[in-house]
Amino acid sequence: MHNESYEYKQEVRTQWRADVVVIGGGPAGTAAAISAARSGKSVALIEKSAQLGGMGTLANVSVFMPIGNVTGIYREIIAETMADHLPPDHDSSIAPQYSPFLLRHYLNEKMKKENVKVYYHCEFVGTIVENRRIRAVVVSTREGLRAFEGETFIDGTGDARVAIDAGVPYTTGREEDGLTQPMTLMFTMQNTGQPVKAYLPEGCYEYKDVSDLPQGRRLYWERNGDGSLLVNMSRVKANGAKIDDVNYAEAEALRQVFSIAYYLQKNGFESYALTHIAPQTGVRETNQIRGLYTLSEEDVVRGSRFPDAVAQTNYEIDIHSPDAKKTTDERKVDGYDIPYRSMVPAELDNLLVAGRAISATHVAMSSMRVQATCYALGQAAGIAASLALDGACAMKEVPAEALRERLVAQGVRFAGA
Ligand SMILES: Cc1cc2nc3c(=O)[nH]c(=O)nc-3n(C[C@H](O)[C@H](O)[C@H](O)COP(=O)(O)OP(=O)(O)OC[C@H]3O[C@@H](n4cnc5c(N)ncnc54)[C@H](O)[C@@H]3O)c2cc1C
Repeated sequence: MHNESYEYKQEVRTQWRADVVVIGGGPAGTAAAISAARSGKSVALIEKSAQLGGMGTLANVSVFMPIGNVTGIYREIIAETMADHLPPDHDSSIAPQYSPFLLRHYLNEKMKKENVKVYYHCEFVGTIVENRRIRAVVVSTREGLRAFEGETFIDGTGDARVAIDAGVPYTTGREEDGLTQPMTLMFTMQNTGQPVKAYLPEGCYEYKDVSDLPQGRRLYWERNGDGSLLVNMSRVKANGAKIDDVNYAEAEALRQVFSIAYYLQKNGFESYALTHIAPQTGVRETNQIRGLYTLSEEDVVRGSRFPDAVAQTNYEIDIHSPDAKKTTDERKVDGYDIPYRSMVPAELDNLLVAGRAISATHVAMSSMRVQATCYALGQAAGIAASLALDGACAMKEVPAEALRERLVAQGVRFAGA
């Protein structure tokens, strides 16, 4: 017998108070923290893991997918970490593979330079909401629960965790059945220059043909030219924001990793050793808020332009089968804008949602979800939060023109502007 629920009350001490509190240190959260700090605001960045960079480091995604531009904070990251890849103009596409370890280190140092106070191992738990405003977030820290008070808040959790807790409506996955894109555990192999003894641990699968593989294809990158192989070949049908799904996915994805490595060692990569497995299985898609504007498949396909555009991308529609079939729906896209309104929940005056959890349909999010776009959205959110503070206005009242001007002042170039 167990109770259905408990009421749990606890007095929580305030740890810190900031102008802008950013929750989640992925591409969106880190960029938001930087741009808010550059706007002269005090910023707390709350991250549940030991590192910044989100899926790019934690899940070892470590390739920047091409989006048709290299601009703003994303451009700065490329310039400062891999100058060889920096295109001369802002309107070019690049798709570099990078070291997740170096990016992790770089982001730590960057936050120090930008005067962002980072709280690692701090997991958002809940919101204190009063009169349409979040007053504080409650966070689980190494010393127990603590409150972080703020004037404005930016949800960069990827799962819209803060927004959902504060009562913002949301959807999950495909409109017809709620299924999300599958999860993938990334891993790296290294050429040792000599034959490696292939090993298949107990409980794993012996894949014989490409068609047996979880994605029915071989998908890896060797762009670093140092004998490393970055492998994106596992596929687990799961929603990364659900308890039981994640429990299943972490064990199943690891089984697949050992099985795929064994397959590769038998099929062309006989001298490659399995050298690194990402600390967590990557999450492509979970929840989308319903904001003031919902980016749609139609917007992506027809190339919608908006007066309040804050990010631009031409990354393809890219849907790994939510049914965990061995198919991927990939469709080229010419380019479109993402409006500021897709980050703004109607229900609260001092919250923005940046990154992959913005207001978008399942198909539209499959295109806007890649890292460079999330950095762009985060940069816009940090500036918008600071404008809302300066103007003592609600997030939905932030003037688009001023926001875009400040983005340009911070190094963003809009195509066609
Ligand atoms: C397997 C896989 C392959 C991909 N391949 C590519 C690729 O090749 N190129 C590319 O550009 N993109 C790729 N993507 C997409 C891209 O990595 C993500 O969509 C992008 O990182 C999303 O950025 P984000 O900041 O919105 O969220 P995330 O990267 O998910 O970051 C969210 C952050 O919030 C933190 N967080 C979550 N909950 C809490 C909480 N309660 N409290 C505190 N912190 C919290 C997390 O720890 C994390 O650091 C891939 C994704 C996956 C999963």
